[in-house]
Amino acid sequence: MTTAHLDADVAVVGLGAMGSMSAWRLARAGARVLGFEQFGIAHDRGAAGGESRLFRMAYHEGPEYVPLLRRARELWGELAAASGRELFLPTGCLSIGLPDLPPMVNVRRSVTDHDLEHEVLAHDELASRYPQHRLHDGEIGIHDVAGGMLRPELAVLAAAQQARALGARLHEHTAVRAIEPGDGGVTVVTDEERYRVRRAVVTAGPWTRELVPDVAVTVKPIVLTWFAPADLSAYGPDRFPAFIRDTDGVHLFGCPVLDGMSVKCGYADVREPLPGARDLTRDLPDSALRPLSDAVRRFLPGLHPEPIRHNVYMDGYTADRTAVVGALPAAPSVVVLAGFSGHGFKMAPVFGSIAADLTLEGGTAFDVARMSPSRFDVAV
Ligand SMILES: Cc1cc2nc3c(=O)[nH]c(=O)nc-3n(C[C@H](O)[C@H](O)[C@H](O)COP(=O)(O)OP(=O)(O)OC[C@H]3O[C@@H](n4cnc5c(N)ncnc54)[C@H](O)[C@@H]3O)c2cc1C
Repeated sequence: MTTAHLDADVAVVGLGAMGSMSAWRLARAGARVLGFEQFGIAHDRGAAGGESRLFRMAYHEGPEYVPLLRRARELWGELAAASGRELFLPTGCLSIGLPDLPPMVNVRRSVTDHDLEHEVLAHDELASRYPQHRLHDGEIGIHDVAGGMLRPELAVLAAAQQARALGARLHEHTAVRAIEPGDGGVTVVTDEERYRVRRAVVTAGPWTRELVPDVAVTVKPIVLTWFAPADLSAYGPDRFPAFIRDTDGVHLFGCPVLDGMSVKCGYADVREPLPGARDLTRDLPDSALRPLSDAVRRFLPGLHPEPIRHNVYMDGYTADRTAVVGALPAAPSVVVLAGFSGHGFKMAPVFGSIAADLTLEGGTAFDVARMSPSRFDVAV
């Protein structure tokens, strides 16, 4: 491929959480970037909608994530400063559960292995400091001081704006229909044009399989619900940190009041996977909200158990709940970032940097070997 025929160095396909951050980091590294988003920037239809996302450093999923999380935290600060937007609210994050549950063991290993600022709250202390949570016998809390809340739509917007300010050309309402590797580069096909680039980064979230069908990512809906507290003052960011809790097979997470009236709660794994991203329906039967109401009734008795609003989002999931990050074995000029399995948002800026490393340098200093696409049967 001769440079004379190139429309850009790198095309970023999908400008949600990972794509907007990839465009920003690539443009910041000096690359000529073309970006494509099928809807408008910061839309509400994919994995990055719903007002807030938890940031946790003491990680349920394993201490091996902490170096990524540390760098992500720095980059959230850099993006907030560059954009002048408040993207991160430092509320801390409380993990609740029995101490020998695997996620709680991982949280403890994260704080000890990586010397993270934290507080272990024994059952009685947790109950007296955070009476908003109704506890089971033996449950404890681990307060992750570096935790907090992110504003996803604002963050995507801020990253896209920074990318544009650094020269990236981002096309909105432009769906990519195909990615064709070959001749030492990649052709990106839209309804109107064919673009030639040196490398492509596919960050299509739940839509990934439409472009790279063999990447083993399934689409799972996640329902978010907002509940009104009886005593609003007890659920503000100053008294009610973000939380994540595993009790009796219920995996509940939530945030303090950010909208002046309600606490957001989510409950993973209550909806069946979908055949594809286009099959998402946001019109839920009453029965779909019942598990969330039941969980609130059991664990957060100070909230009125009928959600005052709800919405359905979706994320791409892998079988091992570890993302797919890397060049495709059969097409090394195509880098895929997908399958963030319900916990990727907090790391989006560091994955954006990794996308830049992989496309511009051919490798990264971060340990992403366990995320290799070659662990699945992948081909374009
Ligand atoms: C309800 C919910 C709650 C969550 N809570 C947390 C949390 O608290 N903390 C956390 O860290 N993570 C959380 N996550 C996970 C996190 O939000 C996701 O892992 C992350 O947003 C995935 O980003 P993505 O870029 O892969 O997908 P998306 O953000 O959906 O971006 C994909 C983009 O690609 C575009 N696109 C797709 N196909 C094409 C095409 N052919 N052409 C052009 N554009 C295309 C889409 O329109 C979309 O904008 C949550 C997820 C959900 C759904």
